[in-house]
Parts: sequence; C-alpha cells; structure tokens
Amino acid sequence: LVEIHNVHKSFHGVEVLKGIDLTVHPGEVVALLGPSGSGKSTLLRTINHLESVDAGSVTVDGEFIGYELRHGKLHELHEREILQRRTRVGIVFQNFHLFPHLTALENVTEAPVALKRLSKDNARELALGLLDRVGLSDKADAYPRQLSGGQQQRVAIARALALKPQVLLFDEPTSALDPELVGEVLDVIRDLAKLGTTLVIVTHEIGFAREVADRVVFLDQGRVIEQGTPQEVLERPRHARTREFLAKVL
Ligand code: ATP
Ligand code: MG
Repeated sequence: LVEIHNVHKSFHGVEVLKGIDLTVHPGEVVALLGPSGSGKSTLLRTINHLESVDAGSVTVDGEFIGYELRHGKLHELHEREILQRRTRVGIVFQNFHLFPHLTALENVTEAPVALKRLSKDNARELALGLLDRVGLSDKADAYPRQLSGGQQQRVAIARALALKPQVLLFDEPTSALDPELVGEVLDVIRDLAKLGTTLVIVTHEIGFAREVADRVVFLDQGRVIEQGTPQEVLERPRHARTREFLAKVL
C-alpha cells in the first residue's frame, strides 16, 4: 500500500534519510523505532508529502502524493492537488495540532467539508460517529482548551479518520501526555489496529509496539538498520545498535 523506494532527504546539506526502502502492506501495523534524530518523523512526513524528497519515491496505493510523472521525470504538484491527494494519508502528531478556535466537532468536520465537499449535515453525522468511537460523544461542543491532553489526542484521531484515509500515521502520539492519559489513547489505536486499519506508528512505547505491531522497523542515522516481527527485533535484535537502543529505552 505504501511503497517507499530509495528515499533521500537532506536539510542544509546534512543527509537525514540515506536511501530508505520500506513497504507497508494493507492492514499492516508497522512500528517505527529509533534514537532521537534518526529520521523517524522526517520519514513519516515524506509519506504524506509534508516533506518533499530529494531522490527516490513514495507512493500510496500506486499513486504519488506530491508529484506526477511527466516525460519520465517527477514534477511537484500544485498545493491544491497535493491537499486532495493527501486525504489518502491521515497523520496524528505528538502535540495534537487541533484548531484552537474550533470545537471538537468542528475540528472533525472541517476537512471533510473543505476537501471532500461533504454537506454540513453529513459531515456532522460522520463526526459524531467518530467522536463516539473515540469515547468523546459528550465532548462534541468542547474547545481544545477545555479538554485534557488525552481527549485532545482522541479528537485528533477522529479528525484524521474523518477523511477515510487508506493509511494512518502516528508520530509519538502519547509522548506529550501525562502517564495516566497514555492508556486511553493507546486503547483507541489498538482498536484501529484490530479493525484492520493500516498504521505506521513512531513510538517509544516498546511494550505497545510489541503488542500491536505486525512489524517493527528500526531506524538509525537515516537508515533502516533492521526490521522484522516484534519478537525478532525486540527480543533477538541482530544489530548492536538496535541492542544499544533497546537497552536504553526498556
Ligand atoms: P525524535 O525522536 O527526536 O523525534 P526523529 O527520529 O523524529 O527524532 P527527525 O525529526 O526526523 O528525527 O530529524 C532527523 C534530523 O533532521 C535531525 O537531525 C533534525 O534536526 C533534522 N531536521 C528535521 N527536520 C528539519 C528541518 N525542517 N530543518 C532542518 N533540519 C531538520
Ligand atoms: Mg520525531
């Protein structure tokens, strides 16, 4: 479903992705682990073209998000087109990124109305269903500042789901939460995994990765160092760098 092929990316002459190859299959849950600065967020952001790539390619269901092929060359698309194509890929950030001036319900209905031309009534119905699914039907009219971090993150998940993405990306979705709020967000992600949603999750919650991931991918210094089942990578890591990392976080 997601095909990442030989992706390179530099910032100010420093290469942070050094030829990444990664395939995510439909229904698969992939956990992306690695030390700080290894390129996890950058890689995630190339999938929905929040970052362009310097070389290589990323496709979702066989299509580019940010580019089109013309005369054998990739050309970046216009912003409008990118916004449309990006609806295939949902993303949930560490710091929720909700619109502060919109209610929970409005946060969820905004994109389907703007990008999918859903009627206000249909969007409202969809959003109420999604808020119910994340356990927040009673908070539809609350503003982000009136919600706990865990509640805000669950609204962000409902908002991402509202566009019916083919794949959902999570960048450390529980890192900004107080410990007692982590569980409620992980519960929602666990439910999505059970329903067969395709997920790519950057996380430091190793126990959670072991439980929900079909595959664990370990990144270090812009390269995929090793990947495999959670048992393989977390219990019998083959590479010294993976072992060092796990020793620090476990
Ligand atoms: P963390 O676990 O701390 O979130 P990460 O694995 O997500 O780390 P990235 O955020 O992808 O790492 O960053 C990889 C490298 O790229 C870092 O050295 C970072 O400073 C650099 N970098 C990321 N984004 C930018 C940017 N927009 N401009 C310049 N440098 C950047
Ligand atoms: Mg990051």
